[in-house]
Amino acid sequence: MYCFNHHDRPAIGTCKECCKGLCTECAADLGHGLACKGQHESMVETLNTIITRNASAYSAAEKGGSFILPAFLGFIGVILIGQTLYAGRGLTSFGVLLGGGFIAFGVVFLLFNRRVFGPRKR
Ligand SMILES: [Zn+2]
Ligand SMILES: [Zn+2]
Repeated sequence: MYCFNHHDRPAIGTCKECCKGLCTECAADLGHGLACKGQHESMVETLNTIITRNASAYSAAEKGGSFILPAFLGFIGVILIGQTLYAGRGLTSFGVLLGGGFIAFGVVFLLFNRRVFGPRKR
């Protein structure tokens, strides 16, 4: 592959933004990849910042995620049952069954998560 701007020079890599071949003169090395010098340097830099930020946000969600969702499901279930009983409906009414379903799903999810994440001590 040759440089997009200099067809007689071999490309040392491609721009992360536009994927054009770049020679040593045209490439701006940003440490994590190459970009068209003076054209896509800031674009690639922004792109890399977003990717890095997303990766750290994902790992944070993974750490806390095993308990947040089951707790949320259980919370919804309790509210559903509470409201249904408060409204004077019986224990076999739809709201109670739905609430119970939410709680059961939360428990199952918690158990499933423990099986997946449990052995890995953090
Ligand atoms: Zn070039
Ligand atoms: Zn480019």
